[in-house]
Amino acid sequence: MADINVKKYIDGTVFKAIASVAQFEKIETYVIGGYVRDIYLDKPSKDIDIVVLGSGIEMAEKVAKKLGGVKVSVFRNYGTAMFKYRDVEVEFVGARKESYQRESRNPIVEDGTLEDDQNRRDFTINALALSLNKDNYGELVDPFNGMEDLENGIIRTPLDPEITFSDDPLRMLRAIRFATRFGFKIEENTFAGIKNNVERIDIISKERIVDELNKMIMADKPSMGFKLLDITGLLVKILPEFAAMKGVDEVNGKRHKDNFYHTLEVLDRIVPNTDDVWLRWSAIFHDIAKPATKRFDKKLGWTFHAHNHIGQKMVPQIFKRMKFPMNDKMKFVQKMVFLHMRPIVLSEDIVSDSAVRRLLFDAGDDIESLMTLCEADITSKNEEKVKRYMRNFKVVRRKLKEIEEKDKVRNFQPPVSGEDIMEAFDITPCREIGDIKTAIKDAILDGDIENNFEQAYELMKVKGQELGLTLKKN
Ligand code: ATP
Repeated sequence: MADINVKKYIDGTVFKAIASVAQFEKIETYVIGGYVRDIYLDKPSKDIDIVVLGSGIEMAEKVAKKLGGVKVSVFRNYGTAMFKYRDVEVEFVGARKESYQRESRNPIVEDGTLEDDQNRRDFTINALALSLNKDNYGELVDPFNGMEDLENGIIRTPLDPEITFSDDPLRMLRAIRFATRFGFKIEENTFAGIKNNVERIDIISKERIVDELNKMIMADKPSMGFKLLDITGLLVKILPEFAAMKGVDEVNGKRHKDNFYHTLEVLDRIVPNTDDVWLRWSAIFHDIAKPATKRFDKKLGWTFHAHNHIGQKMVPQIFKRMKFPMNDKMKFVQKMVFLHMRPIVLSEDIVSDSAVRRLLFDAGDDIESLMTLCEADITSKNEEKVKRYMRNFKVVRRKLKEIEEKDKVRNFQPPVSGEDIMEAFDITPCREIGDIKTAIKDAILDGDIENNFEQAYELMKVKGQELGLTLKKN
């Protein structure tokens, strides 16, 4: 790690412009935080944070001018300014000292030294700074041995963790998010600091919490994050429904599986197959109603009857409380939760065309996502069983393709409309129209008629007459 060629990462046009302004204005300037950390992790980032011993806003404006007049966004209240240049985002701030008071969420901010600025950073690995000053360009300023922690994979607060987390409790989630993303360990005192400050999470807005969770579940192994949230006591405060999935009950020597750990396995299994954060959330929520629907039946053993249905209803409640978007993303998650057992049930049986058609009809364009979720949901330890399911899923996928090509039911549009029916029988809107439309849809999905106007029209005539309607004479 130490032999990484740092200069290569602070050598581009932007850095040259910053260094030149810094030298001309005689203002000490450093690149700090995540960008420096990521250089040493050899995963260069596109977000550059610059701290200057002076006005961040003035520095940003001068550098932007030097770069040919890029547009600067200024946030006077925060004393920061940023601009985008090509594919990087550069943020400037004057070095500052922050002190928090127990009653207020917002710190008192004063001008400070570089060291003050490093003191206000959340973790030692996020407090690393590289000089952009002529005399010692590229020199690392690392007052808390952040480099050592980076090498050893450790998340540690620079100052007393109790104060760090109490001051800004979002840092507890950030600690867990970084540990998850990098596969790092949270140092003992830092970990204790989180445990002791769990109650403080209440002062953090839902939006910021969700933002952290979203970043955490985009890691390669998000289960690690949820386990940490659980053992620190944060999970039960943030997502009590998920925490409630933990545990195994036993009746008459029969145990059910631990749905919390099963869900985490599903989540990790879906990661390589999707970058869609909402599909990953669907994996988290797919069995969310299992605790609420759990029953022990003498004959059947443990059952979770209609957990998909109840789960689908729980999704909007959770979304509302967490201030997730209440839009088509929520509907997508609901749909995944509701349908998550369908492909498995289908693959257990002989895969009939009509069952595939109905699945296509219900899942529509989300069929691919649903199959991805279901494949991740096979977590049995029995390899034979897993192989059998996977083989069956292949059959289901093949059939899905064949039937979609043939019958086009994925985005089903009724071939005969309500107006056609009213016109044919000379009637005004009434219940029979709905009955006829349902009969046509069912006949198409069951494969009794083909998905076209002629066959649907013929069926309409028959059904209408069965319902006592008379065809209009032409
Ligand atoms: P990433 O961009 O990958 O999430 P990052 O470390 O760059 O990682 P940012 O949220 O962009 O994260 O923050 C930039 C830097 O600002 C951090 O590296 C850290 O030094 C500091 N920082 C951000 N949030 C906090 C906080 N809540 N408390 C203390 N320092 C923070």
